Amino acid sequence: MKKAMIILTMILVAVSFACDSGPKEKLKVFISVDMEGIAGVISGREVSSRGNDYDYFREIMTVETNAAIVGVLAAGATEILVRDGHGAKTNILPGLLHPKAKLLRGVTDRPENMMLGIDETFDAVLFIGYHAKAGTAGGVLAHTSSGNVIDLSINGVSLPEAGYNALIAGLYDVPVVFVAGDNWICRQVKELFGEVDTVETKVGMGTAELGLHPEEVRSQIMAEVTSSLRDLSRFKPYKLLPPYTMVLKVKKERDLYPGAEKTGKGEFTFTSSDFLKVMDAFNKMK
Ligand SMILES: [Zn+2]
Repeated sequence: MKKAMIILTMILVAVSFACDSGPKEKLKVFISVDMEGIAGVISGREVSSRGNDYDYFREIMTVETNAAIVGVLAAGATEILVRDGHGAKTNILPGLLHPKAKLLRGVTDRPENMMLGIDETFDAVLFIGYHAKAGTAGGVLAHTSSGNVIDLSINGVSLPEAGYNALIAGLYDVPVVFVAGDNWICRQVKELFGEVDTVETKVGMGTAELGLHPEEVRSQIMAEVTSSLRDLSRFKPYKLLPPYTMVLKVKKERDLYPGAEKTGKGEFTFTSSDFLKVMDAFNKMK
C-alpha cells in the first residue's frame, strides 16, 4: 500500500511538472509586417518596388521588424515567425533580418494572405507597419487590402486589415497583443479589440504626416512589445460569432464568387461558417 502511494505521488509530481513547464517555457510569436505604417512612409512610391525610395524604406521596414524581434526575445520568446505582408510579400531584406526569426515571404493562393503561417501553436501576434482602413480621412495610405475596396464588414463590423487578420488569428485562439502604425490604425484596433498595446509611428494627416524618428519608433516598439508579452493574460483572441456574413463594397466589380450575392451597385454579400472561406471570397472579389 505504501509503495503504491509513493508511486502515485511520483506520477502526480511528474504530471504536474510536465503541465507546469509546458506553457511557461514556450513563447511562440507571430509577427505580420505591412509597410504603409512604417516610420517615415508617406507616399505610394515609397512602398512600391517601382519607386525610387523603395529600397530605403524596405530597409527601415526590416530594422523596425528587428526592434519587435529584440523586444520579443527579451520577453523570453523561443520561436518567432515573421510574415512579410505587403504587396508581393518580398520587401523585408532576409540578410538584414534578426537571425533568431524565420521569414515567410512570397504570395500563395491561401486565404490567410498576410497571416500565412499562423496556427494554434502560437501564443501571440504582433502587427508592425499597419495602416488604417479604406475611407479613413487622416490615415496615411489608408486602404483595405486593395485600392478597389470601399469597405469590408463582417457581421456588421467594418474592418481594417488588422481586424480580419486578428479574426484569422482568433480562429486559433491567438490574441493580437501589439500594433504599430499611424495614430488612425492604433485608434481602430483599440476600438475593435479593446485590450491591445500600440505604438503610433506617425500622426496621419491624409497626404501628410508628423512622424517620430525611426530610431525612436524602434526603441518604443522594443519596450512595448516586451511589456505586452510579459503579461499575456491581459489579451483575448478577437472573435466574431459564426456564421460570418461579409458585406463588401468595391469601386470596380470583379467576377461573382460562387455562393456570393450582388446586393447593389458594387455591393456584394457572402455568408459561411468557415471564416477562411469568407476571406477567400474577399480576396477574389476585392
Ligand atoms: Zn496593407
